[in-house]
Amino acid sequence: MRIDVLGVGFDNVTMAEAVDHAFALIHEEGAHYVVTPNPEIVEVCREDPAAKAAVNGADLVLPDGIGVIKGAAMLGTPLKEKTPGIEFAGHLMERMAGEGLSLYLLGAKPGVAETAAKNLAEKHPGLVIAGSHDGYFKEDAPVAEAIRQSGADVVFVCLGAPKQELWMKQNGPATGAHLLCGLGGSLDVFAGVVERAPRFWSDHGLEWFYRLCKEPKRIGRMMKLPLFLVHVGQEKRRK
Ligand code: UDP
Repeated sequence: MRIDVLGVGFDNVTMAEAVDHAFALIHEEGAHYVVTPNPEIVEVCREDPAAKAAVNGADLVLPDGIGVIKGAAMLGTPLKEKTPGIEFAGHLMERMAGEGLSLYLLGAKPGVAETAAKNLAEKHPGLVIAGSHDGYFKEDAPVAEAIRQSGADVVFVCLGAPKQELWMKQNGPATGAHLLCGLGGSLDVFAGVVERAPRFWSDHGLEWFYRLCKEPKRIGRMMKLPLFLVHVGQEKRRK
């Protein structure tokens, strides 16, 4: 059973359980997808029914950061732990490398996915990079077909939210892959274009603050975080 946080249902799993579940999905028939919403995306879902359907329609819904964990605890339905998308992806690639499975990287500015592919192949010997494509395309069908032709088992879809969630719901089956994971700006991190916050900041629940200092233009988006906490407070009183 999922834990509801303002209309988004989160799977209550540890990181190890999330990776096990995702790995089982890779070996099942059909296309499955994983999403990793943060408070900002929960707020988007409150306003946008299509985004909400795409997020809740995922086979695995993982809390990306400390905000959702705090929100769930405030509502009296705590989640086991945060499962940041980028860390989840790291564990998944480790396991995929062990089985020689293949990965397609979709998203980010031209050239970024290729650099990420090179870095990830070096970091995870045994992992097969099936192909890559930037995230600034006009038509979905040729991209889905390119993925299908590549024979990839797994696709990292990094188009930002909620675009990536909508894309996976709509195009997942056409890619022929068994698992698609929506991972926001992860390709920028894998390519070394954007730096992830050092452990100290994420351990103290302050990754968002580190990111804000590095990219002040995110302030508009980040104002959704206090709004999320206000809405959680209202929901708590309503309950
Ligand atoms: N992006 C893309 N296509 C688009 C819009 C965005 O590929 O049409 C990429 C963008 O280049 C970036 C990622 O999607 O690599 C979104 O990054 P952001 O930092 O917004 O994601 P977050 O991790 O905060 O969800």
